[in-house]
Amino acid sequence: MLNPDRVELVRLRLGLTKSGFADKLGVDRKTLLRFETGLFSFPESAVQNLCAISGYPRPFFDKGPFQLPSAEGVSFRSLRSLTAGSRDAALAAGALAFEFDDWISTRYDLPKQQVPQCENQAPEQAAAFVRARWGIGERPIGNIINLLEARGVRVFSLTEETRHLDAYSFWRDDQPYIFLNTLKTAERSRFDAAHELGHLVMHRQTVGGAYANMEIEANAFASAFLMPSADLKAEIPHVRSLDDIIKAKSRWGVSALALNYALNKIACVSDWHYRQYTIALGQMGEREPNPMQRETSQVWTKILTDLWRQGMSVSRIAEELLIPEFELSSLLFGIATVQQPGAPPLARAPLRLISDA
Ligand SMILES: [Zn+2]
Repeated sequence: MLNPDRVELVRLRLGLTKSGFADKLGVDRKTLLRFETGLFSFPESAVQNLCAISGYPRPFFDKGPFQLPSAEGVSFRSLRSLTAGSRDAALAAGALAFEFDDWISTRYDLPKQQVPQCENQAPEQAAAFVRARWGIGERPIGNIINLLEARGVRVFSLTEETRHLDAYSFWRDDQPYIFLNTLKTAERSRFDAAHELGHLVMHRQTVGGAYANMEIEANAFASAFLMPSADLKAEIPHVRSLDDIIKAKSRWGVSALALNYALNKIACVSDWHYRQYTIALGQMGEREPNPMQRETSQVWTKILTDLWRQGMSVSRIAEELLIPEFELSSLLFGIATVQQPGAPPLARAPLRLISDA
């Protein structure tokens, strides 16, 4: 007997409506509804179709309960333009990440979470507070994913093919999670990571009752966290042209748009110039000038390498978890595909995780 909740999870993951799902399984809507009651089983042909269309192995559907991040506990930036289907597909990826994370946690000690709480502070103050607590001072953040991981945030990637989904984050008990859509530019992903950190720091208690300013606050947090104003003023007191911004942005690993915005806020760029630069950047379309390299997860790289040395490839892990390898790989920044199957194993060494950015 298949677990109807797991079948539903895969329906969400596929982003299908119930009728669309029933069609793909080759059953009528009534058969699907009866199955969902848990009292009726599917015809064997439907089970075969289910595995074929989803790529999930049959035993996945026999497993017991799982946790799904609830839509209320998560804030999505562009909720208006995001369809419920895309949102649910991204949340369903969270359930798979939990299963992987729980499996890893039985084998490795990952960094404990040290995400401070700043419920009632202004975003700029909260950003300065987190920087102080984490001992970063005013310096630029080299690799934000590594920084977050070292402070105990679990960071996963999403390869959701929707322009409207940037990232999401939430607390699962006392464990913070961030999911980043890696189809965005590297700079956008960094800003998204800082934005989500803002939610984790400022809105842990409020996510249930989302309010209009939450997104604005998280953006202000991200801007201040990535580009502390003292450092901006010290490094680029005078902006003569858009080129200055495009050259300077590498220091903070942000988009030219984000730097232009931050410089205007502290009056290093006039309102008039700010608008001119924004228009000029808009004309470049989606392309980021002077692009940076994409960040990846150091924690998952180290763990996957260590497991691989022990003979556990990503496909073996996927088999063990009964999750398709492509799903696992897309959650883990595609790290899986980097490893060379024919390469000799590295010398055995204890797993060391980063302790700083
Ligand atoms: Zn947000």
